[in-house]
Amino acid sequence: MSMESKVIVDGLTFVPYLTRERIHEEVVRVASQLRDDLKGKKPLFLCVLNGAFIFAADLFREVGIDDARINFVRYSSYEGTNSSGKIKELMGLTEDIEGVDVVIVEDIVDTGLTASMMVADLKKRNPNSVRFVTLLHKPDNSKTGFTPDYVAFTIPSKFIIGYGLDLDGKARNLKDIYIVEEDL
Ligand code: 5GP
Repeated sequence: MSMESKVIVDGLTFVPYLTRERIHEEVVRVASQLRDDLKGKKPLFLCVLNGAFIFAADLFREVGIDDARINFVRYSSYEGTNSSGKIKELMGLTEDIEGVDVVIVEDIVDTGLTASMMVADLKKRNPNSVRFVTLLHKPDNSKTGFTPDYVAFTIPSKFIIGYGLDLDGKARNLKDIYIVEEDL
């Protein structure tokens, strides 16, 4: 394992938090739950861009359902280290999801605003079911009481980067997850 001891992005110092091995273990655990729960179904995974693309790629392959499909949607971007609270519309879902078993794949549920809005929006399109998977959940920050169906890691309300998660577009390529040092 080669994990940097510190990473500096935009003048902020980040320290190691979750190793790629720990992430892999949780991806395997969540994937096996999903595989069981989706038995006999032809699910459509919806990866929420940008942050979830690496998690979704790993999860989708690990679930390993031959009839599963994946598509990509997007919401508002997150600016700096504080949630803007501004939620934009769901973009990119052009296909009909009526009667489909949908699995939303998100990077972080923070306030829960994006997640609850997305689930409500998708349910209007009459899918057979909607499941919500998140890599990270910050329950202390919840403004909605939204509870994801599947959570890889429950974490405190600190800013993290890596494994797809960015700070103003940077650090998505880090293989491990880092947490802001000032917040520890
Ligand atoms: P929510 O609507 O739940 O407040 O926001 C969820 C979105 O905020 C996530 O999809 C993510 O883009 C962003 N976000 C929340 N916390 C963090 C964090 O600690 N690090 C990064 N990089 N993004 C975060």
